[in-house]
Amino acid sequence: MSAKTTIVTGITGQDGQMAARLLLEKGYRVIGTSRSGRGPTGLDVPVVAWDLIDPSVIEGLLQTEQPQELYNFAAFSSGAGMYDRPLEIGDINGLAVGRILEAIRAASPHTRFAQASSSELFGLAQQTPQNESTPFRPRSPYGAAKLYAHAMIDIYRERYGVFACSAILYNHESPLRGPAFVTRKIARAAAEAKVGRLERLSLGNLEARRDWGYAGDSVEAMWRMLQAEAPADYVVATGRTHSVRDLCACAFGHVGLDYRSFVTEDPDAFRAAEPVEIVGDAGKAARVLGWLPKVGFEEMVRMMVHAELRAIEDQGAPTR
Ligand code: GDP
Repeated sequence: MSAKTTIVTGITGQDGQMAARLLLEKGYRVIGTSRSGRGPTGLDVPVVAWDLIDPSVIEGLLQTEQPQELYNFAAFSSGAGMYDRPLEIGDINGLAVGRILEAIRAASPHTRFAQASSSELFGLAQQTPQNESTPFRPRSPYGAAKLYAHAMIDIYRERYGVFACSAILYNHESPLRGPAFVTRKIARAAAEAKVGRLERLSLGNLEARRDWGYAGDSVEAMWRMLQAEAPADYVVATGRTHSVRDLCACAFGHVGLDYRSFVTEDPDAFRAAEPVEIVGDAGKAARVLGWLPKVGFEEMVRMMVHAELRAIEDQGAPTR
């Protein structure tokens, strides 16, 4: 039997790369898309240039490839920038998902579709933990755009029978995380401190809490969603929160240092707090998909710090 074909949009980002690696391991033929048409270093898959504003490219690709699966990771990411450029975010994180669904319906209706959705759907939630039935109250253009995408997935599933699923992903990290995210910032700083290159690390609110999981586990959940009997939406989360302070203690602890000697808190960098804790109940994913996160918080932080140490060593810095 020939290999299954899958399209992974946003192949240069953390999730796109993690998903592509997982799918290659599983024997899929992977085709990536990115805005520039370039792929990430070290990942040997064909990459098609696609700007999500333009529906013709994805429709043509679906038409010719007739892939079994499509994973959508192409988006503006969350974080401090999720209030910037609200209309572009609406277009890329929201409308473009409608374009993909419409292209699937028109050109390749058997293609199964997995969307990287977000806990930002819950935003100003009133209940904790959140599950698939918790009302959505997005607080940012990012969350509003993801909500539009989420609603369209439900509509295409119900009205057109497309096998489309939304993974409501809580924070998920890895050594491939973008440098502006707090996990990566802290991992990098801990590694720099270890080699004597860090004086101070200025952060926002150290008491901010997140449900941080491992990105490899999140993409595994998305793959399982597309192997299920029926399409559905799932919360993908660890069900546990840690504070930014815990993250600092863990990362610096891995290199034998005390974060308190380096970290300062900058009140100007504080973000608005959520009314209730944003933490996911992934019971449905466990029950229906048999999915459980494999990599815990400490292990994930250790992986990130070690990757930063290796990167510093590769640049030729002396280690202590
Ligand atoms: P987000 O949850 O998608 O916005 O991911 P981030 O990694 O950007 O932020 C996670 C949490 O860490 C948020 O509650 C931030 O307010 C908090 N945080 C505290 N200090 C910092 C910082 O210096 N940088 C970032 N990015 N986040 C910080």
